Amino acid sequence: MARITLEHIRHAYGERPRSEADYALKEVHHEWNDGGAYALLGPSGCGKTTLLNIISGLLQPSEGRILFDGRDVTELSTQGRNIAQVFQFPVIYDTMTVYDNLAFPLRNRRVPEAEVDRRVREILDMIGLADRAKKKARGLTADQKQKISLGRGLVRSDVNAILFDEPLTVIDPHMKWVLRSQLKKLHRQFGFTMVYVTHDQTEALTFADKVVVMHDGQIVQIGTPAELFERPSHTFVGYFIGSPGMNVLPAKIDGITVTLGTDAIALDYRPNIAAGATTELGIRPEFVRLGREGMAVRVIKVEDVGRQKIVRAELGGKPIAIVVPENGEIPAEPRVSFDPAAINIYANSWRVGRE
Ligand code: ATP
Repeated sequence: MARITLEHIRHAYGERPRSEADYALKEVHHEWNDGGAYALLGPSGCGKTTLLNIISGLLQPSEGRILFDGRDVTELSTQGRNIAQVFQFPVIYDTMTVYDNLAFPLRNRRVPEAEVDRRVREILDMIGLADRAKKKARGLTADQKQKISLGRGLVRSDVNAILFDEPLTVIDPHMKWVLRSQLKKLHRQFGFTMVYVTHDQTEALTFADKVVVMHDGQIVQIGTPAELFERPSHTFVGYFIGSPGMNVLPAKIDGITVTLGTDAIALDYRPNIAAGATTELGIRPEFVRLGREGMAVRVIKVEDVGRQKIVRAELGGKPIAIVVPENGEIPAEPRVSFDPAAINIYANSWRVGRE
């Protein structure tokens, strides 16, 4: 498997891009570890598929280079890059049996038949189609066909990387969960480099070691699920990850004191912020304490979502979401306080570190 280096990648679909807005990818410059499980996560149109296609060689970037283990593969075709791909919809041979579909990529590479058999049986078990091995793929359901596609992507162990583009879209919810955890297990076992495009945060957070959050043609953060949750590097990541997303409130900073309207909070660090910069305070709804102390809020509505309640309120005229336990009490004169350790400060939407 390979380390993937993306060197100053930019891409515009049109012939003559006139401004930054014409670039589907603005500047992607990163190195992804050999054996890492990366999920590309972001809303529709942010550039996930464009980036994946540039890695696979289906698309040539307008600018920049792609390296596998330090070797420039930018000019190579998909085949020359030696990668496996799984798409949103099945890509299989309808007239072949399930077994032969899975064996095909191995036989193509002249893998000895005993090894082919061992790998195919392993994959058949994983995708739950061992009892259909001898059936023609034509007669199978759409989600069974997609499982074969997934299996074909996983069957070879000598590829540089396996790229997945929303591969579980047509799979039913229960099987989705099963396949996701099996994928994770296989990844742990074989350590292949895997890049997985999804717009579903649960999918990204459950299986990836590193989630790559994209927004408007750029990577805004690469982090573990915990880092994305606790320290979103951009307010967009705060909104996009978590349900409900992070609260972002206008704030003023003076040393370690942050002021929201007329209320002041002492931070546990001194943010490195330019004087006069527009600042915002980010706090997750899970870390807002609702009680009788702190800043006065006006409760607008309470949503019951099973184990917990989401309180929608206003703080100084700005909306704020608060997560409270199922049996949590909402006082007659509600107030909120924030755990200083859970506060993030942003300037021009980017997180500000310590001074
Ligand atoms: P989705 O989740 O909807 O697939 P995505 O994050 O994968 O979205 P891309 O498909 O990479 O996003 O699209 C990024 C931008 O490039 C979008 O503005 C899209 O309209 C544009 N785009 C994608 N493919 C083409 C194309 N073939 N020609 C022109 N523009 C394109």
